[in-house]
Amino acid sequence: MQVNALESGEAGSLWEVDWFSLISVVALLIFAPFIVFYFVMACDQFQCSVSEPLLQLYRGDVTLLSIWARAPSFSWSAAKIYAVWVGFQVFLYLCVPDVTHKFIPGYVGGVQDGARTPAGLINKYEINGLQCWLITHALWFANARYFHWFSPTIIFDNWIPLMWCANLLGYAVSTFAFVKAYIFPTNPEDCKFTGNVFYNYMMGIEFNPRIGKWFDFKLFFNGRPGIVAWTLINLSYMSKQQELYGTVTNSMILVNILQGIYVLDFFWNEAWYLKTIDICHDHFGWYLGWGDCVWLPYLYTLQGLYLVYHPVQLSDASALAVLLLGLLGYYIFRSTNHQKDLFRRHDGSCTIWGRKPSFIECSYRSADGGLHRSKLLTSGFWGVARHFNYTGDLMGSLAYCAACGLGHILPYFYIVYMTILLVHRCVRDEHRCSSKYGKDWKRYTDAVPYRLIPGVF
Ligand code: NDP
Repeated sequence: MQVNALESGEAGSLWEVDWFSLISVVALLIFAPFIVFYFVMACDQFQCSVSEPLLQLYRGDVTLLSIWARAPSFSWSAAKIYAVWVGFQVFLYLCVPDVTHKFIPGYVGGVQDGARTPAGLINKYEINGLQCWLITHALWFANARYFHWFSPTIIFDNWIPLMWCANLLGYAVSTFAFVKAYIFPTNPEDCKFTGNVFYNYMMGIEFNPRIGKWFDFKLFFNGRPGIVAWTLINLSYMSKQQELYGTVTNSMILVNILQGIYVLDFFWNEAWYLKTIDICHDHFGWYLGWGDCVWLPYLYTLQGLYLVYHPVQLSDASALAVLLLGLLGYYIFRSTNHQKDLFRRHDGSCTIWGRKPSFIECSYRSADGGLHRSKLLTSGFWGVARHFNYTGDLMGSLAYCAACGLGHILPYFYIVYMTILLVHRCVRDEHRCSSKYGKDWKRYTDAVPYRLIPGVF
């Protein structure tokens, strides 16, 4: 077993950004908001055709200005809806401590420890996401059934005006986090500065920015305006289909069910989420702040949006195939994550697939010089490939897209994006693990040679 030092630059020091990363960052900062606008506008004005706006521009049938002029603009009524929504989620997050863990067997909620940060700190988190999700959805259904304060199609009906509000919040939060990192960082020893201002803005400086003791930016923005909204947005699309066509298609039900399982899984396992790359390794910048406010709610829900414009009714056999693919993907995704969690929580003293797990002992140093030991699991799905959880996630993602049939490519954007995201994430994570564990990581990759698909990649 060999002792390895963390890469310099993990925390508290200045490090350089290569040109490729810098160009990618600037390109993303410029183009990502246009990509979101393009897809949403393509549905609003061109029946969800991705190619039609470009073809009509080429033929001169439309101009950029005419497309822009036809797009619904910012409205104060959407701003009010958005403010109430975000304000309500802040209230639930900060003011309603978790009680669900007291009566739901097996659920881990309430105050929990996060992972050790690069500077060696362990933050505490109030895990109440499941409770917030349940309260929000109970209110949604109560409104639709009894109160009728607002239409169940309210999100769809204000979709583009709400997008401008989400952008405002996304940029405001990212800019605030950027300035805060210089003026009043929560944990200065966990700040990461590069020599480049764009990179700092995009990838973030502070590791776990907070306001007060409990308002954690990463946990709040990823989970609440992002993932709680996901299922509500899908419900709004389902209601719109019902309103427009007097029926809800099986594809819409499939998208709602499969994505609903994924969202519920996230909140059921919110304490586990504290140990994922988002919380353990990424810093909070535009990538997470704007991404959680705009990219996630707008692009992860494209399937439901598409199905409002194209109500696809799948044959029973196709619907069953999509359902099975989605459930199998979910099973692999969840079991793989569960195996690592179980293994790490019990420090290897558990059973995986009915046997004592095999693993590789390794060690590393944190930035404060402390020596730590760790173990890399080589049993179960972790012996099949080094990131089989991503493979399961990708199978589930493909099922959401396949539910929309083969009429257009727009709903398939999600699987293309998830493949790029997870392959990039895999490479990024392995680079980090390799510098963290050194020769021990090499022993691990020799034992488990493939990343996502055995024999292929
Ligand atoms: P992982 O849960 O795979 O965590 C990777 C970390 O686990 C590594 O950095 C390493 O950390 C540790 N590790 C790696 N190999 C082993 C091993 N063999 N045994 C024990 N520990 C190991 O990655 P993520 O946090 O990225 O993903 C979590 C889940 O979230 C995934 O299922 C992914 O699909 C999903 N996800 C979904 C996204 C979405 O937008 N829908 C976006 C991102 C993720 P250490 O330093 O502790 O050793």
